[in-house]
Amino acid sequence: MFIYKEFKVEKQSDENVRAITNAPYYAYVKISEGCNNTCAFCVIPNIRGRLKSRTMEDIEQEIDMLQVKGVKEIIIISQDTTQYGMDIYGEERLIPLMKRLTSRFNNLLFRMLYLNPEGVTKEVIKFVAETENVIKYFEVPVQHASDKILTKMRRASTRQVIDNVFDTIRKECPEAFIRTTFIVGFPGESEEDFNELYKFIEDKKPDYAGFFPYYKEEGSIAYNYNDDIDEKTKKERIKKLQSLQKKITSARLREYKKKEFLCFIDKVNDDFEFILEGRALFQAPDTDGKLYVTDGIADNGSGPYKCIINKIAYPDIYVTFLENNNG
Ligand code: SF4
Repeated sequence: MFIYKEFKVEKQSDENVRAITNAPYYAYVKISEGCNNTCAFCVIPNIRGRLKSRTMEDIEQEIDMLQVKGVKEIIIISQDTTQYGMDIYGEERLIPLMKRLTSRFNNLLFRMLYLNPEGVTKEVIKFVAETENVIKYFEVPVQHASDKILTKMRRASTRQVIDNVFDTIRKECPEAFIRTTFIVGFPGESEEDFNELYKFIEDKKPDYAGFFPYYKEEGSIAYNYNDDIDEKTKKERIKKLQSLQKKITSARLREYKKKEFLCFIDKVNDDFEFILEGRALFQAPDTDGKLYVTDGIADNGSGPYKCIINKIAYPDIYVTFLENNNG
């Protein structure tokens, strides 16, 4: 039987209180805008300009308001999260910012997204591993694994840096989920480069990954590259990688069949009113599949609730709430 008290949010009249358009228990907080990198496939720096960080006080004020609205999970975003503070403080200040936020708002959960590999230092990894209210989840966009392609993409990380980030996360924070993204079929991507990428995924086993066919963006540096890969090859390569990733993600989820974990509930399923829909803490919104509750009492609104997996339907999971399930 289900009891689901929907989490209602009062309408705010204060203009400074931003509307939350997703399920109201979580909110995205942008800590900076723009980017100082010059990745060849990207036009964001042209559109948004160079890095502009918000002050710590300004970010705190926004989270204060979100807390009043009943938000439980804060998702820290930007174009290049680990570079936070370089422009206004003259040095990277992500860790001082996060230390300040996680101790001041110690009843909220924090998740950090868009952590480019070159900024994921041992200090960042240890901070995530050791801070109770930071979700053990790293979103590290890698884009490729061949040094030849990474250089052509003008990415700031080499393969060695990327390998080191994955190895250090696995060592220092083994329970963490790692999500990454790859661009497939970048101009000049040979069969050998593709095989290197495939082997990287096989070896490092990211828990979740998104694969995007390279798309020429007008105004980007790569727009003028003339060694494009044909669409058919891109599709075939993506299909191979997706099938490999399915095996890796499914294996990691199977490990969770024996474990208790926390989840949030977003809503009652649109098609079946006896099924609740949400996500585990190891799933970020909109990217890592959904969680469905087929048995349990959601008497605490959005949660969090303790649950266990009873079925995996990649990339989604079906769970059962545990008795005394309030997280
Ligand atoms: S891909 Fe990301 S890091 Fe690279 S230029 Fe674009 S926004 Fe910056």
